[in-house]
Amino acid sequence: MWKMSLGCSIALLLVAQALSQPIAEESLTEEEVARHLRYLASDELMGRATGTAGNDLAAAYIAAQFEKSGLKKLPGLDSYRQPIPFQVTEQAESGSVSIGDRKFGQGGDLLILGGSRLQKEVPAVFSSAAPAELEKLDLEGKLLVAPLEDPDNPGLIRAALRLSQARRSLLAKKAAAGLVEIYQGSAWDRISRFLGRRRVQLASDSQQQEAPPILHALVHQPQQDNEPPWEEGKALSASIDVPGRLSRRLQSANVGGWIEGSDPDLRGQHVLLMAHYDHLGAGMHLPGATEEDSIFNGARDNGMGIVALISAAKSLSEKPPARSVVFLAVTAEEIGLLGSRFYVEDPLIPLEKTVFVLNSDAGGFTDTDVVTVMGLERTTAGDDIRKACADFGMEAVADPAPAQNFFNRSDNIHFARKGVPAPTFSPGFREFSLELMKHYHRPSDEVGEDFDFAYLLRYSQAFARSARRIADNPQQPRWASGDSFEAAWQQLYRKK
Ligand SMILES: [Zn+2]
Repeated sequence: MWKMSLGCSIALLLVAQALSQPIAEESLTEEEVARHLRYLASDELMGRATGTAGNDLAAAYIAAQFEKSGLKKLPGLDSYRQPIPFQVTEQAESGSVSIGDRKFGQGGDLLILGGSRLQKEVPAVFSSAAPAELEKLDLEGKLLVAPLEDPDNPGLIRAALRLSQARRSLLAKKAAAGLVEIYQGSAWDRISRFLGRRRVQLASDSQQQEAPPILHALVHQPQQDNEPPWEEGKALSASIDVPGRLSRRLQSANVGGWIEGSDPDLRGQHVLLMAHYDHLGAGMHLPGATEEDSIFNGARDNGMGIVALISAAKSLSEKPPARSVVFLAVTAEEIGLLGSRFYVEDPLIPLEKTVFVLNSDAGGFTDTDVVTVMGLERTTAGDDIRKACADFGMEAVADPAPAQNFFNRSDNIHFARKGVPAPTFSPGFREFSLELMKHYHRPSDEVGEDFDFAYLLRYSQAFARSARRIADNPQQPRWASGDSFEAAWQQLYRKK
């Protein structure tokens, strides 16, 4: 038997309590990660497509979780939202163009690609000449009718569209009435659906690349049509009645917040955690939709990433690491990585004070013993990430399928190009397979009976712990020597 003073025993008791108290990541629960994912991937959110009500509900949910964790608002914002204006362009429902005795109708064999409302009879001329030759023609007030195909690159739609761009610029300069291009191939349905799709772009981009305001239309000439009214150099008459392309504004937002680091010397440096919260939406127009299920819930892509982000906001704010941490849920990833690009072009924390980005994104997973990290070996944070995964009984593995180009296909790439070390954390796979892509961009990417919430918890914990280890590491992370982004890093942070 031994005796000790009351003071001493209280001190020991406190030590014992501190030892038994889990670090913040350990106190996350399967119940809470499951609750987050069930909501984010619910039918109520209708696939979270950028600019839809469901996208907005997801943003509101993430903002509420950030507020609950006590995150600060990012500088310059009075809420957790960084609003982003988008421009949506859609096809009109009606319209027609007649050339000679042929009449083409919108929704059938006519696709209006540019220009505003126009109702007019105009002279037309058919010419397949290259833009340099067209330069010599008198085209003022006329409609140019031309084959879509680029004779130098037959069969290539991209080349055809480049030629078309060159023609339009020239015609705008010459004050022509417009351009009608004739498509004669067999893939009209596919091409017109692709070119006529609803397009959402950053409003700032749509202003910059404002197309010349002249009519641009594509018409389909069936292959068996042997006697079209047009031939090289022939003067024709045309009648145009089109409403133009429909264009309107749309709002979405990135959702962000931050916590201040605990170390006065390091808190000026920020580790930014990121995941996109938008997905494809819902509707029969989406490839893979069926009568039974046309809601693309996006549980794995990227509900899981958002759950990891929300969980990290909670556990890191409970016990802040040395460096400051920014939490950023970006929108519009699925339509071209636009939310992250908007942030990088207008960062709320300067990029030179953002020393690392850890993105979370996925299409699916097949191995719950691992976390797969695109760019694991490309930065000096690899060890911290490996240890963080080991803390939760998992192995971190590097991208096993570089040919798939996953590193460049998510939001991290915009930061990487600026020089910020920025890998992507993904639910586990050791090889690229059909099984891995089973739910990718399909309505079946939802929370089914067998969803592995225990793995979602470990994944979220390892994501937060990776951030903690990187934010606590006295060494500022950098690209591995010789990496293609090393020069950008040196420039951004003014380092050798
Ligand atoms: Zn994704």
